[in-house]
Amino acid sequence: MQIEEIEILITKSVADAGIKAISEKIIAGQRINQQEGIYLFEYGELALLGSLANFIKEKKHGKMAFFIHNFHIEPTNICIYNCRFCSYSHHQSGTSWEFEQKEMVEKAVAAPAEMKELHITGGVHPKHGLDYYAGLLKMIREARPELHLKAYSAIELDFMFEKSGVTLEEGLKILKENGLDSIPGGGAEIFDEEVRKQICDDKAFGNRWLEIHETAHKLGIGSNATMLYGHIENYSHRIDHLELLRQLQDRTGGFNTFIPLKFKNKNNEMSYLPEVSSIEDMKNYAVSRIYLDNFPHLKAYWPMIGQQMSQLALSFGVDDLDGTINNSTQIYSLAGADDKNPAISLDGLIKLIRDAGCTPAERDSWYNVLKEF
Ligand code: SF4
Repeated sequence: MQIEEIEILITKSVADAGIKAISEKIIAGQRINQQEGIYLFEYGELALLGSLANFIKEKKHGKMAFFIHNFHIEPTNICIYNCRFCSYSHHQSGTSWEFEQKEMVEKAVAAPAEMKELHITGGVHPKHGLDYYAGLLKMIREARPELHLKAYSAIELDFMFEKSGVTLEEGLKILKENGLDSIPGGGAEIFDEEVRKQICDDKAFGNRWLEIHETAHKLGIGSNATMLYGHIENYSHRIDHLELLRQLQDRTGGFNTFIPLKFKNKNNEMSYLPEVSSIEDMKNYAVSRIYLDNFPHLKAYWPMIGQQMSQLALSFGVDDLDGTINNSTQIYSLAGADDKNPAISLDGLIKLIRDAGCTPAERDSWYNVLKEF
């Protein structure tokens, strides 16, 4: 959308003077502050928010929408923590499982040749420390040297370093030497300590999550960031969360992408809460894209909100639909996501993106374009 078209939208909008002033600021490329972010959440019209977010996205990436050939390995659902929103751990599912290192290496070896990235994350197993996880990376690295290894959320890292008695910096260096390329964004939830006490009071605090990612960035390990939204948090908590991520990104520039994660209410201790609407999902994407002006990418994780909603998200600032995934993650299907077997063919993903008016672009883990379709 061109500036003139957005100006017309602003003029015709029933939005108040506050929204109009913030919109002009966004079009001029100026950073909005926390009060303005909250104001957008509370009073921004969805169509206007989408146009502004897409304006920013197209300035960064044109019409391109990225995807990657990737798959997941989830080592275990056994977890020392018991987050109230979690539907994945053995506490909620009633059954526990864990793979041997050998089995996980076999999975990596068996993955199709076109795979570019392996995402490894799971429960925080009480028995395994740094040696176990570094060893796993080393074996996979030797078996599939071409794969980008994105592994272990900050929560898993915090526990394995503590268990093995190493500092954060020492632990990350050891993992890097054994093949770690980047770390995923999980475990961030909502940084606000009061909300955290109510939804996941027994695991690492938000400031530890930020410290782990900042240290990783300084060691040349890139990462992603997430935010769990749509439960008991309010707009102010969301903007505080985005503000802390924006400040960290100003310091390091080490984040690749931001991934909003929707709270799903099946099979967990917070099932009494209704899930937020798809309109709220789109609003959250749009405000995130506007607020995180220093994040290169915004991802819609399609196994979580479904393929059709992910397609719609491409009109609300999203430029990345993750990947083919290959039916290799259970995290969202266990929480009640519509797609019980999350996998999509390459043709299916390309059609999804094209039908949204975007140009499909296969990427590597650092967002280098490998092929445009
Ligand atoms: S969200 Fe992660 S850390 Fe929390 S209980 Fe579930 S698997 Fe464990």
